Amino acid sequence: MNPAYEQLVAKQRDTHLLVASADLLSWDQETMLPPAGVAFRARQLKLLSTLVHERTIATETADLLAACEADPAIGADPMSAPAVNVRELRREFEHATRLPAALVAELSETQSLAQHAWAGARTRSDFAAFRPWLEKMVSLLRRKAECLGTPPGGESWDALGDLYEVGMRAADLEPLFRDLKAELTPLLQRIVGAGHSGADRLQRIELDEPAQEKFVRFVLGAMGFDFERGRMDRSTHPFCSGSHPDDVRITTRFHKDNFLDALSSTMHEGGHALYEQGLPPDQTGLPMGQAVSLGIHESQSRLWENMVGRSRAFWTWCQPHLATFFGRSLDGFGVDQLHAASNLIRPDFIRVEADEVCYNLHVMIRFEIERALMRGELDVKDIPEAWNQGYRDTLGLEVPDDARGCLQDVHWSCGLFGYFPTYTLGNIYAAQLFAAAERDLGDLDSSFARGDFAPLRDWLRAAVHGHGSRLRPGALIQQATGSAPDASHLIRYLKGKLLPLHGLGG
Ligand code: ZN
Repeated sequence: MNPAYEQLVAKQRDTHLLVASADLLSWDQETMLPPAGVAFRARQLKLLSTLVHERTIATETADLLAACEADPAIGADPMSAPAVNVRELRREFEHATRLPAALVAELSETQSLAQHAWAGARTRSDFAAFRPWLEKMVSLLRRKAECLGTPPGGESWDALGDLYEVGMRAADLEPLFRDLKAELTPLLQRIVGAGHSGADRLQRIELDEPAQEKFVRFVLGAMGFDFERGRMDRSTHPFCSGSHPDDVRITTRFHKDNFLDALSSTMHEGGHALYEQGLPPDQTGLPMGQAVSLGIHESQSRLWENMVGRSRAFWTWCQPHLATFFGRSLDGFGVDQLHAASNLIRPDFIRVEADEVCYNLHVMIRFEIERALMRGELDVKDIPEAWNQGYRDTLGLEVPDDARGCLQDVHWSCGLFGYFPTYTLGNIYAAQLFAAAERDLGDLDSSFARGDFAPLRDWLRAAVHGHGSRLRPGALIQQATGSAPDASHLIRYLKGKLLPLHGLGG
């Protein structure tokens, strides 16, 4: 192998050690860190990110990349690990060098201050207090997009979206979302019109947290999460942090009166974790050993959370085990009641609590607003009005205050424009992958009903996890399923499950 490639790989693996150390410190910050340690932790993280940035933009990196690109042997097979690693490291290098250091510093400082201002503004539902920070953020993000460069025929939002989902374009999302909305809106109206099933009775039963924790660990084990190569802890906002396939950490949360929330959070993060544990171990620290995009990552979490965890077959397996963990507390809840309770459909204000039908509608409202902001078609001061109008038109809700409206998400305060649509892409990919797994494996319900999730997990490992960043998201879905990303699978899945469940026929 080319000595320049060997050097590039060695250098990159060391850089990844710094990144992984920062990941671990961030995990610790969310789970263990005493409150007074926050300022010191910020200094630790700042130093690590500076070191990573310096290594990424070093002249040596540029020279090594150029030497690798000049070697025809490396590029001969564009899907080989060396070709993929050079391609993706070049991409990272370009991103890192296009942003002037002063802009990076200003963004980073504004992010921490804006996030702080947002947290206070959300508590008091005071958009006016957050507005100057968001105005500053939008203007910095416009500059960032300018530096990164708009793709040919694209718009400035694309430059930011591309950071999270390679190749994602607002102009492609628009028709995709429009078609999805045209299906979801009437589906939601039909389900809501069918009236309540009384399935929320389950949410009034209190179950103690240690029992809930034992239960979700049991489910996580059945999914195939390897506790020798990962762990589960608690945090306010559940997340998955993977610094190495042998050290994958998830968090979950518990509410006494809603064990389904702990279950869905755990299965969601568990899906992310299986992806991280399934990445090619010989490529650790290199792009080939990393998840390809946020959308593909989210497809793994949503697939386990929804297609598995909210299926009747899952409850057929799970229901008889409940007494082991919860004694007689859930007596009287049969498979059908549990299945219905895990599929309550009810429009509400908060995205992170949204059901499978409403979730993507929440995302679309945010996408339209941030796109309009980036285009200069919407002023920051007009966000609350645009937000509330979006909820009125899309979900039929009157938003009562900005805390339950445009101040609910942390993303914009951290400068994460272009991020929200990856959640919906994840849902679309998840349904398409699940349909392809069923096509290839036959009846998955009977294996789920036995608590056997290995066939699905192994299929995902071969079709998605093992590829790392070899293929771009669209190409990965095409290869795994035989067709380009397409929302029809999600619609078919939702109708197939929810219409009969609400007595509405096919
Ligand atoms: Zn997720």
